[in-house]
Amino acid sequence: MCSKIRKFLEEASAKSGFAVESREFANFLSENDELKTLRDEFYYPKMKTLPQVDLTLVKPEDDSIYMCGNSLGLMPKATREIMNRQFDKWAGMGVFGHTEGELPWAHCDESTLDEIAPIVGAEPSEVSMMNSLTVNLHILLTAFYKPTEKRHKILLESRAFPSDHYAIESQIRLKGFNPETSMICLDPREGEDCLRTQDILDVIEQEGDSIAVVAFSGIQYYTGQLFDIPTITAAAQKKVKLELKWLPGGLGSRARLRERPLHLSAWNVDFACWCSYKYGNTGAGGLAGLYINKRFAKDERERMLGWWSHKMSSRFMMSNQLELDEGAAGYRISNPPMMLAVGVMGFLEVYKKTNIQELRSKSIHLTGYFEHLVKHHLGADSPYRKKDSKVACTIMTPSDPEQRGCQLSLKFNIDIATVYQELVRRGVACDKRYPNVIRATPVHYYNNYTDVWRFVKTLVDVVLYLEEEHAFNGSLNS
Ligand SMILES: *Cc1c(COP(=O)(O)O)cnc(C)c1O
Repeated sequence: MCSKIRKFLEEASAKSGFAVESREFANFLSENDELKTLRDEFYYPKMKTLPQVDLTLVKPEDDSIYMCGNSLGLMPKATREIMNRQFDKWAGMGVFGHTEGELPWAHCDESTLDEIAPIVGAEPSEVSMMNSLTVNLHILLTAFYKPTEKRHKILLESRAFPSDHYAIESQIRLKGFNPETSMICLDPREGEDCLRTQDILDVIEQEGDSIAVVAFSGIQYYTGQLFDIPTITAAAQKKVKLELKWLPGGLGSRARLRERPLHLSAWNVDFACWCSYKYGNTGAGGLAGLYINKRFAKDERERMLGWWSHKMSSRFMMSNQLELDEGAAGYRISNPPMMLAVGVMGFLEVYKKTNIQELRSKSIHLTGYFEHLVKHHLGADSPYRKKDSKVACTIMTPSDPEQRGCQLSLKFNIDIATVYQELVRRGVACDKRYPNVIRATPVHYYNNYTDVWRFVKTLVDVVLYLEEEHAFNGSLNS
């Protein structure tokens, strides 16, 4: 474990007089967390409101153990209020709502940009809030991936999020190339779970002349590894861009908003897109983001167009003579969805009360504490493990906080479906990802140290239960 986190835990333990592994210590940390009131800004699910919980095993009125913000963030209370006001407005004024009232719908996406852009380290003109993540990836690749016989490859990590993988694969085929030869899906080294930055740089160096786009995720969804975007971008810009003045290539980043500070402009990323319903808490399928570096603000490259790509000043002249809007705004296609913009605004009401640096600092402590408890109770050399235990639970996510976000990917040698099912029965929300990972995430907005403690306690209970029940007899794998 990193020495900063060890120091944080040791100092807090000395101050409180509680052992780091005790429940009292978890409560102490939760009480002394400067961001603790943010939890009240959300509806936090109860045991009794989660489906599939066995209410004989838990107290129905207790808070559930929600560790699944990596998949779907919780609902800000503000969202319901803003949505209700918009429903009233729609009911009361119909079409006039496009231009009148608290949130003129025709501009509802733009009204979020001044606050969203700094979160990703961009200027407002470099960002649009539109569509969903995969759709934006297609829009970006349609505009920026222009393969030639010489330069046609897209470099990404192996086992990328399936939607990203399919989008890239299909874009290669749509442009008449073959994914077999045009898609480089980089594997970690034999016996390792995460990619080494140097290995990524080596491939860019070796294959750079034939690479058109380097497209990494900000954080790998399966392993939780945080990619070194500035270093990868610098290498890609050198090798892929310089020879490429005539050819639109570049580095795309498929990010997840607000798990960690992003500096897309300073890192000189060419384009990027992100979803907002995980750490952005905007609701399932929430309005996604798109970033276009200002170097491309006026380049008018071919792209997918619609009436919202047209400058606002003359959009409604309906002349059918396109006046392309500049920057990221010129990549929009449709009338923005008011109900999805409300999700972003509800989130911003919460975000206003803090900032990404504070959140990241809390997150590093929270996940470091989580890592400590998992290793303490379930690590190979833990004195708490049963001597003949057949269960191995290891952490796939890097231990260095600089190389991860808030999620930990727990790797099991037993059937994860059973582990998952038993966790859910005990009031845990997390997710299983085959072949052998349970992902669990304390989120800096609404989770506290007590949630983490309760999660690990429940996980230990489940492992002991399964060992006693021999539920995994015959299903051991390595
Ligand atoms: C959540 C996520 C997606 C999902 O894309 P949608 O288009 O919103 O369904 C894709 N890629 C990554 C990296 C994700 O984290």
